[in-house]
Amino acid sequence: MKELLKRIPKVDVFLNDEDLLSELGNKPRYLLRKAIRDVLDEVREDIRNGKKIDLNPEFLKEEIKKKLKKLLKPKLHKVINATGVVLHTNLGRAVISEEVAEYLKELITGYSNLEYDLQKGKRGLRYRNLEWILKELTGAEDVCVVNNNAGAVLLVLSALARGKEVIVSRGELIEIGGSFRIPDVMQQSGAILKEVGTTNKTHLKDYENAISENTGLLLKVHTSNYKIMGFTASVSTEELVELGEKYGIPVYEDLGSGSFIDVRKIGLSYEPTVQDVLKAGVDVVSFSGDKLLGGAQAGIILGKRKYLEIIKKHPLNRALRIDKMTLTVLENTLVYYLDEKLAFEKVPTWKLLSQPQEEIKKKAEELIQLLKSKGFPAKVSLIQDTSEVGGGALPTQQLPTWCIAVHLPPEKLDKEMRKQETPVIGRIKNNLYLLDMRTVFNSELSILAESLIKAANKIKKA
Ligand SMILES: *Cc1c(COP(=O)(O)O)cnc(C)c1O
Repeated sequence: MKELLKRIPKVDVFLNDEDLLSELGNKPRYLLRKAIRDVLDEVREDIRNGKKIDLNPEFLKEEIKKKLKKLLKPKLHKVINATGVVLHTNLGRAVISEEVAEYLKELITGYSNLEYDLQKGKRGLRYRNLEWILKELTGAEDVCVVNNNAGAVLLVLSALARGKEVIVSRGELIEIGGSFRIPDVMQQSGAILKEVGTTNKTHLKDYENAISENTGLLLKVHTSNYKIMGFTASVSTEELVELGEKYGIPVYEDLGSGSFIDVRKIGLSYEPTVQDVLKAGVDVVSFSGDKLLGGAQAGIILGKRKYLEIIKKHPLNRALRIDKMTLTVLENTLVYYLDEKLAFEKVPTWKLLSQPQEEIKKKAEELIQLLKSKGFPAKVSLIQDTSEVGGGALPTQQLPTWCIAVHLPPEKLDKEMRKQETPVIGRIKNNLYLLDMRTVFNSELSILAESLIKAANKIKKA
């Protein structure tokens, strides 16, 4: 054993290797040193454990190269989304268009007028690029934009209802991913939760009976990730607004996803748009920037000037402020909604949601063709299924889609696909591994084919 340990090459043998240095490029040498150390440590460990080892420097160099490649790859990187979920929170929600990304690159690789008024030559307002477009699109009197919609809810409750009661239906006391729960946010904001009605039924008189001198806000929350079905009743935004007006209490609606486009246009059942909610007369509405809006992570707050002024002045607004990357992605995405037809073409979220069946099918057929031409070692079939919108938008609604089913052990294949250089996330249904082609881009088809072949060969060999 001692003999073997002595024969392990020194770190320096590899540190100046041209091949490895060229792999490293202009990244810190530290990473190469770490890759070498890690591989040599593993060899040492194997020797101690009496495992068979190869001390040939060429072999070790290849191992170091593999390790180095892994270290060089950013930990946050691209994946192929073959789940069919268009707004997948774990996979980064909304996709941004090339055009917007190009503009973002130009903006952030130099200085910008982020908070500079070019006319006056002095400090300007950070949010003016979003103010005009959001007012134009929705007719809202005033605008405030923060880090995300969870932050928006916290800010609105803190600014308008600290120390006061907020009336909300028991059917709307939601928890969404990442432990965002209405009762907890309420407590954090200093507002007092006043729940009314029951899980399945809440009537207008429940709200009315709960109103007291200490009522600060009437709150309506979109039940984003579940649906109560059967014997149910809830109060509409219009009714709540009427009640608020009668007692002089502001009404706030957390719309969750918040769409500018009527989802009936993509074959789903009606959900109020942002414009509808404002038209119904709510005082304040908030929603996410990276759900159905298809922009960047943000929480958009719209409504009456009187309330927005209080919200904007609250210190939490500064704490939840967004940066220039978000501001520019939102501005350049929102512009497309001035012409709905363009939004369907140019905002990737809407393009993916409104994709014609034939287009999805064509991608599936092309992938199958690619696989066959390269001798894919397993059976694949084209099947019809449904995709989800995701992002806590429209939980029970489904869009028809086309998938490729790969006839290999699904758990094994799934694991191998996630290990590929560009990891692929598919879905398993009825013990079949499916690739939903709705969320796969044409530009990804050849990588996807390569990955499938590599993964399938590995399974076949095992
Ligand atoms: C998604 C959602 C939120 C949180 O929005 P983020 O932008 O993810 O912070 C809050 N409320 C509802 C109803 C939601 O659906």
